[in-house]
Amino acid sequence: MNNTAINNNSNFFTILNRHERGDNAIDCLTCGICLSRCSWYDGEGGPNPRKMVRMAQLGLDNLLAQSTMIWDCMICNHCTTACPMGIKMADIVRIARGLPQAEAILPESISQGIKTRLETGDVNGFTEDDFHETIEFLNEEIADENDDPGALIPSSIKGAKYLYLPNPRELGASLLHLKAMARLFHASGETWTMSPRHTDVTNWGYFAGDHEATKKMVLQIVEATEELEIETLVLSECGHGFFVLRNLIPELVGRNPRFNIKSIVEFTLEHVKAGKIKLDPDAHPYPIMYHDPCNLGRKSGIFDPPRELLSLVCKEIVELNPNRENGICCGGGGGLLQDSASTKKRMISGRAKADQMKNTGIKHIAAPCLSCHRQLGELAKYYKLDIKVDTVAALAEEALIE
Ligand code: SF4
Ligand code: SF4
Repeated sequence: MNNTAINNNSNFFTILNRHERGDNAIDCLTCGICLSRCSWYDGEGGPNPRKMVRMAQLGLDNLLAQSTMIWDCMICNHCTTACPMGIKMADIVRIARGLPQAEAILPESISQGIKTRLETGDVNGFTEDDFHETIEFLNEEIADENDDPGALIPSSIKGAKYLYLPNPRELGASLLHLKAMARLFHASGETWTMSPRHTDVTNWGYFAGDHEATKKMVLQIVEATEELEIETLVLSECGHGFFVLRNLIPELVGRNPRFNIKSIVEFTLEHVKAGKIKLDPDAHPYPIMYHDPCNLGRKSGIFDPPRELLSLVCKEIVELNPNRENGICCGGGGGLLQDSASTKKRMISGRAKADQMKNTGIKHIAAPCLSCHRQLGELAKYYKLDIKVDTVAALAEEALIE
């Protein structure tokens, strides 16, 4: 393949080489360092990053767009950290996924999720009526446990300081998680609200490399947040949702949002430091591993706040090896977890993560991302690791002193 002439007439080649440095396929040295960094590629399965870049370089658009490699790639950018030319694999793969020829291999569940989200504002098609019914149910439970009316979950409060944007799972299978986040907001003493138009922090358009869909999903959130005149949008623990909303709004919408954006972990830590939220340092008297979600850590630079919050409620943080910028993907990134046909595949893509967890000998792990949380839980079960998986904000809530 190295002797094949570079085809710089292809559209794909032109898109990829519009930047001066970084994600330019033309810069690839074919050195293969990326292969050694990919936690899934083992010569037999998984994405072959060097091959994908080389195919892009040679203008083999059709071949690349129809290769299962582009949907095996977890767009985790682990290979990018070692690439001498700084080639951003997530960008290359997302552009390839967005090519018209790639539509045939777009996972059905992701395609359906994007359609539903664009039509209803929620990937599961959760309606405003569903929202009100669910919040009413939760508020009845909260009222049974707490006499303070301020503990109830508020809805559509214009001018509230904070607006919480949940993961759709929190309004379905993980209702208790939403209730826990409501306790954190209540403990902070701040004005906050939820909104029937804000039920989905995710953005599957990003997975599909669909620029227009990604932009529309972001706009659904930006416009509704600005209408409510919110000071800070607080995002649920969601890696890719955080990456898109924290980093890509100016590029997608053409301007900065008229509100700040924080994760629930940052919100909680900030209020602990200000003395508003009080946590019991003995709440979790055991050592715990911390997993860096790729979108939060390597791709957004958030390494310390989750560790700091965990250290306030757990006995000790045990680092996985490698970690931080070099952390290994859980195996469910890049849309793999959202592809309903991927369960078997994810146990292979997550094998390196499972080995990492097993090697510490520790029985608890925390991740500030509900997708990583689910994938790590499934890995622990599949590999019989006897490890309990939590999210960071959930552990903080369990340590609340009220
Ligand atoms: S590490 Fe970078 S330069 Fe080397 S083969 Fe991979 S993409 Fe090309
Ligand atoms: S899965 Fe991650 S490390 Fe492997 S090729 Fe894709 S971006 Fe690179």
